Amino acid sequence: MVKQRITEVLRNGQPDESLVVQGWVRTKRELKGFAFIEVNDGSSLASLQVVINEDLPDYDSILKQINTGASVEIAGVLVASQGKGQRVELKANQVTVYGGADPDTYPLQKKRHSFEFLRSIGHLRSRTNSFGAVFRVRNACATAIHQFFQERGFLWIHTPIITANDCEGAGELFSVTSLDLKDVPRKETKAVDYSKDFFGKPTYLTVSGQLQAEVMATAFTNVYTFGPTFRAENSNTSRHLAEFWMVEPEMAFCDLKGDMDLAEAFLKHIFKYVMKTCAEDMEFFNQRIDNTVIATADNIINNEFERVTYTEAIKLLEKADVKFDYPVSWGLDLQSEHERYLAEHLFKKPTIVTNYPVQIKAFYMRLDDDEKTVAAMDILAPKIGEIIGGSQREERLEILERRILAQGMKPEDLWWYLDLRRFGTVPHAGFGLGFERLVQFMTGMGNIRDVIPFPRTPESAEF
Ligand code: ATP
Ligand code: MN
Repeated sequence: MVKQRITEVLRNGQPDESLVVQGWVRTKRELKGFAFIEVNDGSSLASLQVVINEDLPDYDSILKQINTGASVEIAGVLVASQGKGQRVELKANQVTVYGGADPDTYPLQKKRHSFEFLRSIGHLRSRTNSFGAVFRVRNACATAIHQFFQERGFLWIHTPIITANDCEGAGELFSVTSLDLKDVPRKETKAVDYSKDFFGKPTYLTVSGQLQAEVMATAFTNVYTFGPTFRAENSNTSRHLAEFWMVEPEMAFCDLKGDMDLAEAFLKHIFKYVMKTCAEDMEFFNQRIDNTVIATADNIINNEFERVTYTEAIKLLEKADVKFDYPVSWGLDLQSEHERYLAEHLFKKPTIVTNYPVQIKAFYMRLDDDEKTVAAMDILAPKIGEIIGGSQREERLEILERRILAQGMKPEDLWWYLDLRRFGTVPHAGFGLGFERLVQFMTGMGNIRDVIPFPRTPESAEF
């Protein structure tokens, strides 16, 4: 008999078909002379209804074992369903219970649990409807991302996870060391002697693959990375993780306009793909999590994003009739409240803000002619705020050296990065998409911890 995934059975199964399914019991209902169980194997939101008749050998003992959470294999014949809610159901001929689940101690009950509670049982939460839907959509987003770039001839490259460069010049790094923390080697000055460490110098978990992506873009023209990044930020927000995934395309022969056009086409493609392949899950989010997610997806697919310069955005914020916690003036690093005001309130769609003040952006962003701003662009999403951060990169050697010095960094430490400007330099641009922010935006999930299977946040790395 053929083994089938439940999504396949629900979509294409025909009455009289014999088949085998495997999965976990979601619910059991005992009636006179027979029982219904709902079996889910993670392939779809909907479960398969299985009918077990009392004439099945060992009926009573099987029924005792197939509680919520038990793993089962059912061989049977499909029949047209009498009840509403499903087209077909499986009439069991043989039931195998792999592992039972004691109803008194199994933490997942039929009732709705809070996401906070489910985080405390991170090893089981994927068996719920909500998390099943989240991780199928997450998978579809990842597939859409690769499809988008591969169709356009971008090379998928793999950038290092351990790095000696602090790309952003920020202090949010996790150190990587093989030194014995109980007996750290020190120089005469008492400073840690990193020459004794594994790499002979301080190293960190990467906060971004961008610098290495630039190396690869100056050989392959268009490349992207899709990998984990790490930030030891102590901000306990609903939009920050200590370990998150980032998608970073980098394009040679590309300016800020090309960068924005690509980012917009990219987001449109992902939303289209997910709406097509995860319609049932998206409908679920719309009904149960946030009743605007489908309208938002349609809005993204069908409308052009708003584009404003930072200077224009500041003027709009100064005119706003709301009181912000952080007062607005030119030079301010936009806070989440400002980002949301622009995208959610004012324009009601994704908003690209460009040409930020040079003081608040990273050293590698291309200096504009006025020398006050840089060719940066952030894409702000309603409800989330920043979802993409990108820029045209500084390709002029002298200016880049000047910017590195101005940030208190040493050009020698970035000699290989500067070499890209010495040999065959070219206008180039790229951006970083926070993958979990995208999944949040797509699904309407309020907390970023609920869109990654195993969230890493301050004081939390249990599972
Ligand atoms: P924010 O101001 O929201 O902290 P950022 O300016 O630090 O963002 P970038 O350095 O531009 O962000 O990183 C690129 C993208 O990575 C961001 O647009 C965002 O989508 C995502 N991102 C940044 N920090 C985190 C984090 N701690 N957890 C999850 N995603 C993040
Ligand atoms: Mn940040």
